[in-house]
Amino acid sequence: MNTNCPCRMKENTNLLNYSDCCEPFHLGNALPETPEQLMRSRYTAYYLGLGQYIFDTHHIDFRGNTSVEEFTHSAQATRWCGLEVIHAEQEADKGLVEFKAYFLDKDKLHCLNEASNFVRETGRWLYTDGEFKPKSVVKNSRNDPCPCGSGKKAKKCCLMD
Ligand SMILES: [Zn+2]
Ligand SMILES: [Zn+2]
Repeated sequence: MNTNCPCRMKENTNLLNYSDCCEPFHLGNALPETPEQLMRSRYTAYYLGLGQYIFDTHHIDFRGNTSVEEFTHSAQATRWCGLEVIHAEQEADKGLVEFKAYFLDKDKLHCLNEASNFVRETGRWLYTDGEFKPKSVVKNSRNDPCPCGSGKKAKKCCLMD
């Protein structure tokens, strides 16, 4: 797929193509090397509705009884619209990534702010759990630049009705 990756990873000032960013992880052709790469590829999997990837990268001790189908359903039920990585750190086999993910619900833009924890086991980074900050509705967002990064006003882009 030769389009900008939904996670909007940049190299210098250029957005990476999906095929050069998260797709190799989704196809199993490469493994994320950092907690941030895993977090980005999980966001992109939510964006694209790839429940199997979300399931596989969620540590088995932390994902409860949620099935692949349930992950797929919840991912597809949400219209994701942007990702901002605020902070990422890694120490040996542990990682922490704080991010804001934007999504649309009932024509309003919401922001999910989470600090996610990751561990590396047998060479693979896995998501364990996260601390959610309260969800917020993004105020006055319709005239602001769209969080998807298109450069358009939100009302002319993802919030278009
Ligand atoms: Zn990506
Ligand atoms: Zn947009």
